[in-house]
Amino acid sequence: PAPAPSDFIRDIVAQHVAEQRYPKIVTRFPPEPNGYLHIGHAKSICLNFGIARENNGQCNLRMDDTNPAKEDVEYVDSIIADVKWLIAGWADHCLGFKPKGATPASFTVNGKPDYYLAPVSPAPASDFHPSPLTLHSSPAAEPFFASSYFDQLYLFAVELIKKGKAYVCDLTPEETEKYRGAPSEPGRDSPFRTRSVEENLDLFARMKAGEFPNAARSLRAKIDMASPNIWLRDPLIYRIRHTAHHQTGDTWCIYPLYDFAHCLSDYLEGITHSICTVEFEVHRPLYDWILESLELARPLPHQYEFAKLIPSYLIVSKRRLIQLVNEKIVTGWDDPRMPTISGLRRRGVTAAAIRHFVMGTGVTKFNALTDLAVFEHTIREDLNALAQRRLAVLKPIKLVLTNLAAEEVIEVDATNNPQDENPTTRKVALTREVFIESDDFAEVPPPKYFRLKPGGEVRLKYACIIKLDEIVKDAAGNLLELRCTADLTTRAGGPNSDKKVKGTIHWVSATHSIDAEVRLYDRLFTVPEPGAEDDFLKVVNPKSLQVVTARLEASLASATPDARYQFERLGYFTLDAKDSASGHPVFTRTISLKDAWVP
Ligand code: ATP
Ligand code: MG
Ligand code: MG
Repeated sequence: PAPAPSDFIRDIVAQHVAEQRYPKIVTRFPPEPNGYLHIGHAKSICLNFGIARENNGQCNLRMDDTNPAKEDVEYVDSIIADVKWLIAGWADHCLGFKPKGATPASFTVNGKPDYYLAPVSPAPASDFHPSPLTLHSSPAAEPFFASSYFDQLYLFAVELIKKGKAYVCDLTPEETEKYRGAPSEPGRDSPFRTRSVEENLDLFARMKAGEFPNAARSLRAKIDMASPNIWLRDPLIYRIRHTAHHQTGDTWCIYPLYDFAHCLSDYLEGITHSICTVEFEVHRPLYDWILESLELARPLPHQYEFAKLIPSYLIVSKRRLIQLVNEKIVTGWDDPRMPTISGLRRRGVTAAAIRHFVMGTGVTKFNALTDLAVFEHTIREDLNALAQRRLAVLKPIKLVLTNLAAEEVIEVDATNNPQDENPTTRKVALTREVFIESDDFAEVPPPKYFRLKPGGEVRLKYACIIKLDEIVKDAAGNLLELRCTADLTTRAGGPNSDKKVKGTIHWVSATHSIDAEVRLYDRLFTVPEPGAEDDFLKVVNPKSLQVVTARLEASLASATPDARYQFERLGYFTLDAKDSASGHPVFTRTISLKDAWVP
């Protein structure tokens, strides 16, 4: 097993473990269900679950669902499926779930429905979070939703008002922006900043009751309009949105903003280390301010930031990925060209390869492009160990072995995976008519061409050496077939089995093979940093998909979508579960054998 990774966040956690600062290390992965998860999220998932795993801790999957306008249950479902797939067999024992139907009050420590009660040390975290092992095997468990804390969050907001630390503001969003000012100069106080506690309590209750239209009023934290940190200039913590929510329906018409909801959701779940990406570093003082101002029981959660994963040639922004889906540049979120977890899965990339890649990129404070080649290398390494070798011809041309009888079938042994400790073999039929790759034949060969050429010899992999005698064309000059002689004495075990020729090519029997649609995917973008373009849609690779009708060895008729195959000399392929039909298999190329990509 690989050594446990080390980085500045893990160092901090290790220090806290050594100090016994918390009864249990609890992290969370908090996606907003406004899109599918992508490779960037995979990094966050592996970091949070990895830390939980290495410290016998727990990681909660929490829907950060406080902005109903852009969210949807389709996204909730896909996120749950993707996270479970990515961590299966690796960290699923750390996955925190709450009992189905439990409200925050009902799962607060010691059963006290007091929102002030947090997992105060030495309160056992296991009371607060039922054992993840039991929960994982229990169908009566669900992930966490920030929306299930709306009652609690409202009470927290009321508490802030009572403490004189929040006020209802009637400025329009535009005015609020203007009063906030530029970072270089102090902002101006809202004229509503001095409202009495009573008036604020009354107005906030009426906001909740639905008395005011969208954006007419907001609740703001009263912090410091002159702060050099713009996020501390009386940030909005609640706004009016008469919008139904996918989890809470029409119960609420005011919704908490991210900064208010996030730290308190962390607190309610007993999160110890709240890990996010570096753009939230400037929000950290606000995160702390809210928790401190409410004078909550300790220990409080703390926020730590790391740099985003941005692989070259990929887009890691849900907003832009939605555009690719909506404008039908791809067939959906799970299009095998998408950098989404569901797209990568459909492409044939394994969860282990994704984990190894994202964890291998390290955890730093500085955003930088990660070379896609690193990911591709990881995928190849993973599939090389895993994939069953098979014979397939993508662009077939017919070849006749004239010294074999029409009905003759010679069974040859083909190795399934030479990487296995004890490689197994299967029987492949060699017959009079076979197909070879059109790229493996040249009538007018360039210098040093070791594949099939007039008068030349090559070895048919696993079978024997053949010699090209005759090229047959139709009247228009199109190639019809290549007529060759098979030297059966060069078969394995034959007297001339060790005869050397420079070229070995792949082939399939014409009669013992099946047709298949094969999709050859390439990079979706032509430039290394599509996300930096003014219009990233202008750098879409027009040749990102090529479809061919290939010929596959007969054994692939029973291929399964979870198996991985190497079509020899061609690359790694997987059966597409979604588009394959009985009698019409569809294979997807996960990746070529070597990086042959030219822009
Ligand atoms: P996007 O910009 O794609 O919408 P987001 O950060 O708004 O991403 P969230 O759903 O809020 O999306 O993300 C959930 C978690 O994943 C957050 O903690 C976020 O910091 C993390 N995350 C998002 N993108 C990346 C990335 N490229 N690399 C590492 N972590 C990421
Ligand atoms: Mg976010
Ligand atoms: Mg976002």
